[in-house]
Amino acid sequence: MAKRRRVRWDRVIMVFGPLLLLILILFFSCGGSEKGKKDPSEISAESPSSMEIAEQTGTTALPAETTAPADPAAVYKNELIVVIDAGHGGKDAGALNDPNNPTRLEKDDVLRLALAVKKAFEKYPNIRVIMTRETDEFIELKDRCAIANNAAADFFISIHRNSALTGDGVEIWINNDAGGDNTMDKLLATYIMELLKEVGISQDRGIKSGFRNSSSNEQSNNYYVNRNTDMPSCLIEMGFMSSEADNNNFDTHLDEYAEAIATAVVELVTDRNLFDVETIE
Ligand SMILES: [Zn+2]
Repeated sequence: MAKRRRVRWDRVIMVFGPLLLLILILFFSCGGSEKGKKDPSEISAESPSSMEIAEQTGTTALPAETTAPADPAAVYKNELIVVIDAGHGGKDAGALNDPNNPTRLEKDDVLRLALAVKKAFEKYPNIRVIMTRETDEFIELKDRCAIANNAAADFFISIHRNSALTGDGVEIWINNDAGGDNTMDKLLATYIMELLKEVGISQDRGIKSGFRNSSSNEQSNNYYVNRNTDMPSCLIEMGFMSSEADNNNFDTHLDEYAEAIATAVVELVTDRNLFDVETIE
């Protein structure tokens, strides 16, 4: 009797064992694919690139802190992505030439220059320019940063014009080094300043880190767009709105300034062997 029963159990295991295994495999694989499977509504909510969502709703969360890649060369791909950010726009006019009788608005000047910079990059087919705005529209600062971060841009260049009762000249602002290595930011700003000086500016006011009136070398003491972009960045103050000399320079040399900014990026990546820029003449 015992012998017959043992034989029967062997058969039971032989027949049902693989079946049980199959059921287990099916059970777990279904569970797994359920997790990975996307509901169609989920897909459409996610895929219109988080960049577009950021532009429309400003909901994209920014990374907690800005970190420069340890090895910049490691992130350069088959194209170089440069974000050109025309400051202000729409309801935000920026600085005025004359507060009592404004005939010239910062938001218009910087858009003109930004568009000219975009054009200056056109002769480099493997450099892609992304504009944070191309019309007179208001864009939140966080959205400007999200555009650059979501595109994994290689450089972020913000274009502004300065304001003060007196003063003239160009200054370029970069992050202080509290948030990490700012070597590339400094290089970017230095190349731009040198080439702008070759065109001709009323005064080189220097490469400055932090922001105007910043009290200490803390990460919070940086311009928002410098602080919240993941890539090397700088903010150019392209002369003073209140300076006749700077306004004349701006109008006379607009295309040359744009050329200088584009060339600065090209020379920087070429000199440092970071990227092979293709050129069409
Ligand atoms: Zn500004």
